[in-house]
Amino acid sequence: MSHHILLIEDESDLVQTLRYRLEKEGYQVSASLTGQGGIALAQGAERPDLILLDLMLPDLPGTEVCRQLRAEKSTGAIPVLMLTAKGHEIDRVVGFELGADDYMAKPFSMRELLLRIRAILRRSKGRKASAGNPTWRGFGPIKVDEAGRQIWIEGEEVVLTMIEFNLLMHFLNNKGQVQTRDALLAQVWGYREGVSSRTVDTHVKRLRAKIGIAGTFIETLRGVGYRFRRQPPTPKGAS
Ligand code: CA
Repeated sequence: MSHHILLIEDESDLVQTLRYRLEKEGYQVSASLTGQGGIALAQGAERPDLILLDLMLPDLPGTEVCRQLRAEKSTGAIPVLMLTAKGHEIDRVVGFELGADDYMAKPFSMRELLLRIRAILRRSKGRKASAGNPTWRGFGPIKVDEAGRQIWIEGEEVVLTMIEFNLLMHFLNNKGQVQTRDALLAQVWGYREGVSSRTVDTHVKRLRAKIGIAGTFIETLRGVGYRFRRQPPTPKGAS
């Protein structure tokens, strides 16, 4: 089955170009010229596998669209690639802080965009194939259905973005090992170009905040990177 990509972009020429190129690549494409319309489409029956979201929209800023998508359980985990005006350094960071999985500055090369799209879809695969075949893992208060890409902290489900989930999985797969920012960029993001180590810090910060008590398991090694604790803490009262 082909992947469904939702475009939320108000430049109709760009939408037309993107639609043409994406359909040529075999993707199923839907589009909205407004933020509200885009949110409605994302919540519709044909849930997109990826959203390309413009930062400057007529009705809502892209950052607000992203925030609303993240706040809803049905759309909270859909990867978002943010399209920003060129050189908006602050917007980039804001985009990441609101949970965009990646961004591209306009004008972008279509080839580069297609590579990014493929990388994101590859990283998020497995989420759909998982139904009915959970692969459970536990670590202290953390419970993970890896194939279903769902996590629970002390029994409460937490919605993570794709990057946050992949980051947590990477930490769980490499417990007790020092993870440099460069290694995380290469292994979790899958490429380095255009992504700075500050991005890693932003995502780790967001992940920590979301997973509550388990956030303390991620240790910051100043000037080096991060390390996830090797053993879960012993529950109180146990010997
Ligand atoms: Ca725009």
